[in-house]
Amino acid sequence: MSRTEFRERIRASLANKTLQIALDANAERRVTGRVAAFVSLPDWRERRQRAHAIRAEVIEHLEEHLEKFVRNAERNGIIVHRAKDAPEAIKIVLQIIEDSPRRYTKESVVSPRDEKVLVAKSKSMVTEEIHLNHALEAQGIRVVETDLGEYIVQLRGEKPAHIITPAVHLRRDDVGKLFHEKLGIPYTEDIPSLTAAARQVLRDVFLRADVGISGVNFGIAETGGICIVSNEGNARMVTTLPPVHIALMGMERLVRSLDDLALMLSLLPRSATTQKLSVYTQLIHAPFPDQQRHLILLDNGRTQLRNSPLKESLYCIRCGACLNACPVFREIGGHGYHSVYPGPIGSVISAGFFGPDFVPLAQASSLCGACKEACPVDIDLPKLLTRVRAGQSPVSGDQLHAIQDSGLSPLSKLFMKVYGLIARGPRLYALSQKLAAWGTRLLSPFSDYVWLPAFTGWGYSKDLPKFAARPFRERFAGLQEADTQVDRRTSTPADIQETQINQMPLDRKTPVSQFTEELATVNGNVIHVHQDELTQSVVDFLKARGVDRIHLEPDLLEESVMQQAGIIISHRPDPSIRVGATKAICGLADTGSVLIVDGEGNPLQASLLPETHIAVLCASDILPSLENALALPRVRGSRATVVVTGPSRTADIEMSLTIGMHGPGQVYIFLVHVDD
Ligand code: SF4
Repeated sequence: MSRTEFRERIRASLANKTLQIALDANAERRVTGRVAAFVSLPDWRERRQRAHAIRAEVIEHLEEHLEKFVRNAERNGIIVHRAKDAPEAIKIVLQIIEDSPRRYTKESVVSPRDEKVLVAKSKSMVTEEIHLNHALEAQGIRVVETDLGEYIVQLRGEKPAHIITPAVHLRRDDVGKLFHEKLGIPYTEDIPSLTAAARQVLRDVFLRADVGISGVNFGIAETGGICIVSNEGNARMVTTLPPVHIALMGMERLVRSLDDLALMLSLLPRSATTQKLSVYTQLIHAPFPDQQRHLILLDNGRTQLRNSPLKESLYCIRCGACLNACPVFREIGGHGYHSVYPGPIGSVISAGFFGPDFVPLAQASSLCGACKEACPVDIDLPKLLTRVRAGQSPVSGDQLHAIQDSGLSPLSKLFMKVYGLIARGPRLYALSQKLAAWGTRLLSPFSDYVWLPAFTGWGYSKDLPKFAARPFRERFAGLQEADTQVDRRTSTPADIQETQINQMPLDRKTPVSQFTEELATVNGNVIHVHQDELTQSVVDFLKARGVDRIHLEPDLLEESVMQQAGIIISHRPDPSIRVGATKAICGLADTGSVLIVDGEGNPLQASLLPETHIAVLCASDILPSLENALALPRVRGSRATVVVTGPSRTADIEMSLTIGMHGPGQVYIFLVHVDD
């Protein structure tokens, strides 16, 4: 994309009023929500530095960690493939699909299958990067995106507009019209009705799909497992139900251990969706019985990036926080960039992944540093953006010339030259500061000349703070003489936020009360029961709701008592059953989550397919946090595990929270108290 084309796209975005409203609403809620989410993590700055160090170490010794990861994954029964680029990854996927068994059986509860192979896909930026859907569809394969936002943009024939919220650019009436036209439902702007319509269509896809395709949030070298986080439950469906699961993963998305993973998961959901933990945090170590699990590790420019001055961009954990923080992204939106990776991080990696056409994207930054401030792994994005502008993207030969040409504009080059001259002369530099202070006061939104911001546009999406009354060098000289006991800093909004976060009182609640409170904030429910009353309480719960069938994990409740009460028990997944009951291995006090482990009676399906999930948790099994849960031997030795944090949810239409997308819309924890 030439600079001119890029500018045209920017102008079109700025002129699109609906887009501007949608982007403002998204950014506002994400940015304030992120600050609130980090309040519960007083040591977040220290965690961020640790996360940065972990990612740096992994990228530094990537081949070593990859080798260990692949060895462990293969030992677990996962079939691992490595792809050097997009065509190779697509070829591998096509081959796997061709060799896959077809799913249709006589007992299928849904309509007869299409002629075409059906692929159910969950959200994955790596698959967007290699244009996988397009390649599969060209071979006659039907691919259905199952994340609500992705499904919407797929129906519109568009690319995602944001790496976390794909349909961020649309309003509810856009979706209403789309569903009326494509799904044949009556036009509505009611978001729960739109969500329910998509749920119904996509449930059928999950049950019929021959192959499930997902991305991967993290690979864990120590165990050979993969971690996938989601809120709707679609990632769980596509990794659990089809007989073949293919996971595509950028080769850099590794952590060394489950301890490192726990740290990353304390930062990722808070940064991405402002949650303490996503609704579903899956750990998959091995295939299920009668299932093939493939993992494709994709290079596609990552090795080049790793050997370039942009290496730090590989630390990225794709949370999207830098997009929400960026004043430029907030104006032009994801489609303006014409890359699947928009925003500050996209402007760095797109050139490395897709070639010199994407170098001009790095011009779309004010270098204000908001992206670096927001990044949970402390990537120095402004530094990387300036490197891209300076032509340091990892391409070679005749492409280098193209990059240098598409870097700075002639005007910018002239400015940098003049700036270089001024910066080399201390007196000239001091004088320029005074002039700049005077000039900026005119433009500042806090200026007395209030008409100027309105005229220039300053202050619309990003405030230009008023310059200090005295330059830094003068104040510094004064500071050296002053009493050092007095904190002389001027309070910036960032300082105030940090102070608020660090002054949070220590939580003195009991694990049970903390767990109960946290679960309520994510729309879950706790029912306290004594050990002796557990089965009868569950029976009463079912009767009160007119339920007479349950998918029950074996050895959890007294089955004879339940049968006498007229409850039909199944230990197998059945989409027509409305309630599933599983054991919770532990609870997490700081998030209100419960941990379910795969085993006899298919507890992972029992906690996914029904409308209501009952988890039985012993009060003494509540642990402080995810870190403690991931250290349990049962987790490390399991085929698959899921941490459930409340009912399934989505906020893909206008950021409006809707409970009950693909997974259960109700979660009840029966908290069992035992006599001492
Ligand atoms: S660069 Fe940082 S803030 Fe941006 S998506 Fe990656 S991890 Fe998130």
